[in-house]
Amino acid sequence: MREIVRFAPSPTGELHLGNIRTALYNYFLALRTDGTFVLRYDDTDVERSQERFVAQIAADLDWLGLVPARVERQSARLADYDAAADRLRAAGLLYACYETPDELERKRSRQRARGLPPVYDRAGLALEPAERAALEAEGRRPHWRFKLPEGARHFEDLCRGPQTVNLGAISDPVLVREDGSYLYTLTSVVDDIALAITTVVRGEDHITNTGVQIALFEALGAPAPAFAHHNLLTRSDGEPLSKRDNPLSIRQLAADGYEPMAIASLAALVGTSHPVAPAADLADLASTVALGDVSRGPAMFDPAELRRLNAAIVHGLDAADAAPTLADPAMDQAMFWQTIRGNVAFRKEAAVWAWRASASADALLADPDCPPLADEERAVVAAAADALETVPWGEEAFASLAKAVRAQTGAKGKALFLPLRKALTGATAGPELGPWLALIGMDRAAERLAAAARR
Ligand code: GLU
Repeated sequence: MREIVRFAPSPTGELHLGNIRTALYNYFLALRTDGTFVLRYDDTDVERSQERFVAQIAADLDWLGLVPARVERQSARLADYDAAADRLRAAGLLYACYETPDELERKRSRQRARGLPPVYDRAGLALEPAERAALEAEGRRPHWRFKLPEGARHFEDLCRGPQTVNLGAISDPVLVREDGSYLYTLTSVVDDIALAITTVVRGEDHITNTGVQIALFEALGAPAPAFAHHNLLTRSDGEPLSKRDNPLSIRQLAADGYEPMAIASLAALVGTSHPVAPAADLADLASTVALGDVSRGPAMFDPAELRRLNAAIVHGLDAADAAPTLADPAMDQAMFWQTIRGNVAFRKEAAVWAWRASASADALLADPDCPPLADEERAVVAAAADALETVPWGEEAFASLAKAVRAQTGAKGKALFLPLRKALTGATAGPELGPWLALIGMDRAAERLAAAARR
């Protein structure tokens, strides 16, 4: 069966990794069945929805390769919601209520004090026309609740197995606000019917909603789709990710230099029966992760894991893909990439090494990040500057240089290599010095060693 699925973010903030987990699981279903991935903006909340978030969500999905076949906005579908509400009203399933938030809170407190569940008492349903008229004469405007049916609703969750939602424990949900605007519970069902959604994939925080929405599908005379509720991504302290965790927004992660496939691999694989490893592309992930592979427990997000995935992806890039244009066009890109790839976790770090490889000695050593040399280190570097003229240039040049300096100064191990690294690379850690020396060339190496020895 060709699946029609939807990813339905509210444009009230930036997408984070947890949202992407939902988007991916939907996308995978569409990809595996040659189906349709719909992007639906749940933007009926006009106060909190913003156009900049609409644009950012589109940009984030595009960057990740999650391209929707169809885009819908709830704000453009109000006529459908009006029709559905009228139909429910006509069936006696949508009733007017007049309580203020304070009044509702007082009712709930009284119920709790008596040891009862704080479920709405359906006072609105019992109002006679004259009582309604009197309330409206006071200036009150109604909000509208859906009369839930008796009993429970059962469904087979594609992630979690059989589920039961006891509707008796839930208040009749408000579907229409006082100002006439619609709430998500209704709009989502109306859209899922209109778009012929086959499977709804969303976070497990929606399980109770699903029980209510199944009752709404029934009330609107439509078959309910299949449902899958995946576990939620949490921070390492167990707290759910929220839109307030801005450093984890996709926009921010992209700006920090994370690869789209590092983000997608983590978002799809963490908290499943699969190991978290970099996937080649979304199709690869889609063929790996099935909804039934999602664990029951939370999926913990570890920033170190994202970094590790990113590094693995970056290390595997071809030179042509990875290396930025080198400052020194004479430098062999493939050789450059080969030399530094182990030292970069982000593409942008390649640019830093490109600069370090090609900078003049003056620029490199004047760089504020360039570590200073201690006196004994300067002696080692000076010895290297002298010895460089005598060692045969070639693959073994650095080994011969180190040997000569050791013989001359007696320095060995870290005392030998660290000063040479500082002088030749401008950093205390980085690529292997043998290939690095070959990369920057004899003249640049000589100039750096001499300049560092004078510092
Ligand atoms: N806008 C809802 C949310 O972001 C969509 C939930 C759903 O997929 O039905 O939670």
